[in-house]
Amino acid sequence: MQCSRCANGGIVEIKMKIAGEDVMFRQCGRCEAKTWLSIDGPLSLTRVLEMARVAR
Ligand SMILES: [Zn+2]
Repeated sequence: MQCSRCANGGIVEIKMKIAGEDVMFRQCGRCEAKTWLSIDGPLSLTRVLEMARVAR
């Protein structure tokens, strides 16, 4: 797994559940590029925040 921005191999992956859905958060240890992924594909940060709001 490499960062798409700086090609660094040190990507941190965190799995969590938001609103009952499995979501994966990836962050590059070098340039701090952040990516959210669901089972269906990439998520925008806006979408993640919406999901978190609905979950409350
Ligand atoms: Zn990077």
